[in-house]
Amino acid sequence: MVTDMEMDTDITTKKRMKKNNPADSIQDLQFFGEYGGVNPSIADSSTFTYLAGKTMGEVFDGVREGCYLYSRHTNPTTSYLGQALAGMEYMKGAILAASGMGAITSTLLQLCDSGDEIVSSRTIYGGSYAFMKNYLPKFNIKTTFVNTSNIKQISDAITDKTKVIYCETMSNPLLEVSDIESIAILAKKHGIKLVVDNTFTPLVFSPAKLGADVVIHSLTKFINGTSDTVGGVICSDEEFIGSMIDVNSGSSMLLGPVMDSMRAASILKNLRTLHLRIKKHSENAMYLANVFQKNGLRVIYPGLENHPQHELMKIQMNEGFGFGGMLLIDAKTKEKANELMEEMQNNNLGYLAVSLGFYKTLFSAPGLSTSSEIPVEERKKMGISNGLVRISIGLDNDIERTYHTMVDCMKKVGVL
Ligand code: PLP
Repeated sequence: MVTDMEMDTDITTKKRMKKNNPADSIQDLQFFGEYGGVNPSIADSSTFTYLAGKTMGEVFDGVREGCYLYSRHTNPTTSYLGQALAGMEYMKGAILAASGMGAITSTLLQLCDSGDEIVSSRTIYGGSYAFMKNYLPKFNIKTTFVNTSNIKQISDAITDKTKVIYCETMSNPLLEVSDIESIAILAKKHGIKLVVDNTFTPLVFSPAKLGADVVIHSLTKFINGTSDTVGGVICSDEEFIGSMIDVNSGSSMLLGPVMDSMRAASILKNLRTLHLRIKKHSENAMYLANVFQKNGLRVIYPGLENHPQHELMKIQMNEGFGFGGMLLIDAKTKEKANELMEEMQNNNLGYLAVSLGFYKTLFSAPGLSTSSEIPVEERKKMGISNGLVRISIGLDNDIERTYHTMVDCMKKVGVL
């Protein structure tokens, strides 16, 4: 018989173990390795044996589940990472990809047939933009690019051929925050899938809780955090994930952008410290955004009260992870932007490099690099000027020290 006290304890324990925060779902992972290892064993095999030919046939026909067959289909190690990321994103399933672009392209090709349309945010990563603008028309798939901060613009762009609304939770490079909740309501009303790239804000936002159907990450960035690999993930419900690995019609299965098991194992290990890293990236970015703004620099950072979506972000973000580790400063001209970045690198403040989410600060000028696929006129309309410097703030222990050296660099090149 269970006593009242035991029952109370049981309820409290359950309450405590409830995944009310995406970081808890990482903390609660319990994968045992072979021989009781505390890390899951790595399934370093492309193919898996069967004792009976009949069983293999059944797996191929989809009538038998739970067996591994071939690592382009599924692999135990990538499945562990998939489970972890799906849990973090409040989704039922996930597929790993060899890069963020592998995840984005296979998702869109799965959701759209010839003749279908996409409504996409115009401020997105340059590669995603180029894929929709230049590549998908080969398959007769058209994309209308809109300002997704404006719900009316999205709504006006929807036609009876629209299958997908695509946006980034926090956009690359302008750090505009999408109102995922309102976009999801609109998407549901029209029976359209909402696909959200959450690369800039893992843990900070949980797009599925706000109504997104598919959540994508470039794992290359914050989630892996060590700038040693590219990788991607697609998180969604079981039906969509199942469709992507269908042997006859699944884009992940047939295009084959899969992740290797060795990489999946190393990303899973790095994922465990994501919550600590995101908090520190955000804390450092908030500090620098404030002090730079006080110095009279034009700074774009969603944690600042003058950011257009600051209030929206406060409503939709998860508590405890801050406003993210990315900020933009305006050096006014491309020459000044380049001089400043070179000076900062020479002073060991970080690296003049694309990408983000590293322990060291990374800086690049999006107009001259990661957004260069977007035509100049479009970039101007969006507000991506050549003097903008995108900074992925590192995990610096003493951010005040960093600030003083940064100010010296800015003064030296005439940005301040
Ligand atoms: N999504 C965003 C927001 C990105 O910034 C990037 C790359 O910079 C990608 C997707 C593509 O990811 P990957 O380089 O891993 O293919």
